[in-house]
Amino acid sequence: MSNDDDLMRMRLGALDSIDALNKDIYDDSDWKMGVLWFSALAPTSRTGHAERHGVVYTTEEARLFYSKNDNPKNCLCSLSPTLVNVKTGEVLQTELVEKMLFAKKTFMKSVLIE
Ligand SMILES: [Zn+2]
Repeated sequence: MSNDDDLMRMRLGALDSIDALNKDIYDDSDWKMGVLWFSALAPTSRTGHAERHGVVYTTEEARLFYSKNDNPKNCLCSLSPTLVNVKTGEVLQTELVEKMLFAKKTFMKSVLIE
């Protein structure tokens, strides 16, 4: 069993748990759990992974990403459950997201220079 498979099993299990929370707890609310995407922003990070850093996705969007091509392969991204307002897109961890977007901008610049 490869490390990639272990990580994918963990990610998919987390996505299933989030779906259950959304159904059982947040069903009638404007708020839903999505996933805040953390790229490793490592030298080996693929652009398609790094550009997701600091962005909140639905569980379906996350599953779709990992169902494509080689996305699960050597992927160091992690997905953190995050409350998001489905009407406004507002997240509670504004400061964290701002820091992440700044880190991504710096990372992308360094990739482009190389
Ligand atoms: Zn990744």
